[in-house]
Amino acid sequence: MPHLPPGRSEAVFVDKKPPYDATQAAVEANRCLYCYDAPCIRACPTSIDIPGFIRKIATGNVRGSARTILESNILGQSCARVCPVEVLCVGDCVYNELGVEPIQIGKLQRYATDAAVEHGWEYFTAGPDTGKRVACIGGGPASLAAAHRLRRFGHRVTLFESKAVLGGLNTTGIAPYKLPAEASAVEAARVLSIGGIDVETGVTIGRDRSWASVLATHDAVFLGFGLGPDTLLADMPAGSFGAVDWIERMKLGTIDLSNVKRALVVGGGNTALDGVRELLGLGVKRVMMVYRGTEAGMSGYAHEWAQAKLEGALAAWQTAPLGYEVSDGRVQGLRAVKVDQHKQVVAGSEHVIEAELVLVAIGQSKLGATATELGLELDRGRIVSGAAGRTANPRVFAGGDCTNGGKEVVNAVAEGRDAAVAIDELLRANGGA
Ligand code: SF4
Repeated sequence: MPHLPPGRSEAVFVDKKPPYDATQAAVEANRCLYCYDAPCIRACPTSIDIPGFIRKIATGNVRGSARTILESNILGQSCARVCPVEVLCVGDCVYNELGVEPIQIGKLQRYATDAAVEHGWEYFTAGPDTGKRVACIGGGPASLAAAHRLRRFGHRVTLFESKAVLGGLNTTGIAPYKLPAEASAVEAARVLSIGGIDVETGVTIGRDRSWASVLATHDAVFLGFGLGPDTLLADMPAGSFGAVDWIERMKLGTIDLSNVKRALVVGGGNTALDGVRELLGLGVKRVMMVYRGTEAGMSGYAHEWAQAKLEGALAAWQTAPLGYEVSDGRVQGLRAVKVDQHKQVVAGSEHVIEAELVLVAIGQSKLGATATELGLELDRGRIVSGAAGRTANPRVFAGGDCTNGGKEVVNAVAEGRDAAVAIDELLRANGGA
């Protein structure tokens, strides 16, 4: 894993959810009702025993608490920071029904998992060598979770990542006020510390190495390669970027915004919201989201938009871009029209929204077609998978964004982990493991 360069733009961001100290964690843990058939567990894609780990914090067993979390979710440290808990575990806490502040599960999870890293507590070892080898394609949460679980079963793993860094969107895409790139890189290194995972970065399977050669040298393959590049508006002039690309540049390097007073972010999803909040955090005075739908209909989380508004975000609702305003090859803004609730253009509504920077956050391409020679079934570029990531090829499994189209980190972890269990069953059924 190469060192991340110093002086990255993300360094200006402070943690928006500061961690608990021991007293705060104990007080919050002691509020938990330790519900039978706890709804918070059912709301967690990795099914962490939430009342179990909270009870351990309450009784002073922080080491055991972190073990409970990591047993279900080996990326529990980053998930504690990046999970939209408001719509998952915390949103389902029974206290909501009582009109009482729900238990801050994410902050408690962070308290325990941070302690584990700080103290160097190790919990997991590789299983006895089975002589089997599995390829994990992609270095993000799905593949890391799969690789770690496969090592616990005793299978050797080769992990291929096309970028120079591991961690996937945790490293390159998550808003830095939730998870800086460094923290994600450290977590990825901790996952690899189980040993027996050979990592090849800078390698794109299907381009640098054939799928046939991967299949020939491994007993099974897990596909966790995520999504592809941003979907763009045509003819991107200087000063316009795909949002995922721009966020990666900002997290891993340095962005010069000295000439940017006004910025636009096209889209209404969570990537658009991240872009808006990051631009405001980096000091851009006027940041506006441009979205063809309504405020109530946006796909981004309402709690994130509420926060963005508090930070000064503006929005042009029911507004569709027609193209860029360009001068001397540089973007000067967007030409746009108003649309009605049926997405029909309002006659005579064409106007220009001026800006020195435009981010486009209208989705990412699907990469399933890059692996067609594996005999996979595709649905609009997504890999079709069944229970535990099984695909049309019995030796190939898949999980994370390349199958679900782009869900949360915790979904990717669950899918990678469960696919590893299915791969283990396959390899043992085939004998020798
Ligand atoms: Fe505790 Fe809330 Fe989960 Fe009940 S639902 S176990 S109170 S966190």
